[in-house]
Amino acid sequence: MKRIRVIEIIQTEPKNQNVLVKGWVRSFRSNRFIALNDGSTINNIQLVIDFENFPEDQIRRITVGSCIAAQGELIPSQGSGQKSEVRVVQFEILGDADPGIYPLQPKKHSLEFLREIAHLRFRTNTFGSIFRIRHHVAFAIHRFFHERGFYYLHSPVITASDAEGAGEMFHVTSLDLSRIPFNDQKEVEYKKDFFGRPANLTVSGQLEAELAAMALSQVYTFGPTFRAENSNTTRHLAEFWMIEPEVAFNDIFDNMDLAEDMLKYVIGKVMTECTDDLKFLLDREEEEQKSKPQQERNEMNLLQRLQFCLDHQFERVSYTDAIEILRNSNPNKKGKFQYAVESWGTDLQSEHERYLVEKHYKKPVILFNYPKDIKAFYMRQNDDGKTVAAMDILFPGIGEIVGGSQREERYDRLASRMKEMHIPTEEMYWYLDTRRFGSCPHAGFGLGFERLMLFITGMGNIRDVIPFPRYPGYAEF
Ligand code: ATP
Ligand code: MN
Repeated sequence: MKRIRVIEIIQTEPKNQNVLVKGWVRSFRSNRFIALNDGSTINNIQLVIDFENFPEDQIRRITVGSCIAAQGELIPSQGSGQKSEVRVVQFEILGDADPGIYPLQPKKHSLEFLREIAHLRFRTNTFGSIFRIRHHVAFAIHRFFHERGFYYLHSPVITASDAEGAGEMFHVTSLDLSRIPFNDQKEVEYKKDFFGRPANLTVSGQLEAELAAMALSQVYTFGPTFRAENSNTTRHLAEFWMIEPEVAFNDIFDNMDLAEDMLKYVIGKVMTECTDDLKFLLDREEEEQKSKPQQERNEMNLLQRLQFCLDHQFERVSYTDAIEILRNSNPNKKGKFQYAVESWGTDLQSEHERYLVEKHYKKPVILFNYPKDIKAFYMRQNDDGKTVAAMDILFPGIGEIVGGSQREERYDRLASRMKEMHIPTEEMYWYLDTRRFGSCPHAGFGLGFERLMLFITGMGNIRDVIPFPRYPGYAEF
């Protein structure tokens, strides 16, 4: 007999038909009612067992967390709360879960505790919802680009280039670290290493995506990226997933439109495809809000925030205008910012970004035309001689979710900027070649997948929206 998934069974009209279900026990009440979940939906199917008809030692093995296969009749439910239930005729314990040591009990566990048992947290309602949604978000992103004629490009995970020119990379080596070969100048002899040169895990697939865009016109990457930055925040991971479209013939404004369209498309899809899971996360958040002081509570609930994002055009603001707004803002005048906003040219801190988004505009904001000295070498230089065509998208509650730019397509401008910023032009000949041969205006951006997941799920910590988070001092599982 074939197993029916719980999601199908709860949508099936009960007509006393014979069914086989398999899953994990979420609760077992009165020695009679089993709530069974198989991860296909947040909802459980109720199994009813006449314990009198089964050996006692078998009934005793039905514990929270155990895995069972049950066969029986699908009947209309006697109780309220569910349409149908399965009257069990026979069942088998596939895997026991000793209640004396099984860490997940049917009570509220803190997210911190669940992070320590990330190998088991999939079995909670919260993480079941999050990872089902994560799948739908990823799928919607692929669909968005596919529908628009983009090609999915697999950029390398191991690379010899540093896209940002900023360090913060994990080295990749097969050298024996207890016997590193040094030359006479006490430098590591990378010639003896696996690749014959220094290599690292990629921090971004952008440069490779640019190479492909110079022939395929519209590409995107979607893969893991790695940053050895010592950022112990709720928004940074050492391993995170990034989506990086790169489009020939787009300028910075096309780039903004593309990013806004994509975010709205994905959020819209999730709102229609993940209603049960979003409803669960909404209720969860409402519950959590009750324990917070009034002024710390959200003005809008999760679904309202998502809908709001769909209904409003993202505000487009130049860096220069943003600095003026911040300089004249109340918190700045009253010394409430940790970093006072004084002069044009400084980088914005997350407190400033959040002020703009949450207090001033009260909606997503696209900041553009940043000072060239705080941005990467590949961004297109504007005619004013001091800014570049960069754009960041800031989201309420999160801050930066997208970072992008129009790229410098003019060979001379790019090469001289690279020299100024000490980026090795000989080593990066392949990047400069695109500007030597058939260059064209182009633009792209990087979307942090887990930052988007934070917004969509309403979770507060990025470590809770990726299955197995990696951060400073932590790489368990
Ligand atoms: P931040 O200032 O927040 O550290 P960034 O300027 O370093 O971000 P970019 O290099 O522009 O970010 O990367 C593109 C996107 O990748 C960011 O907009 C963000 O969504 C995401 N991102 C960057 N660093 C991390 C990280 N450590 N963990 C998770 N996502 C990240
Ligand atoms: Mn960063």
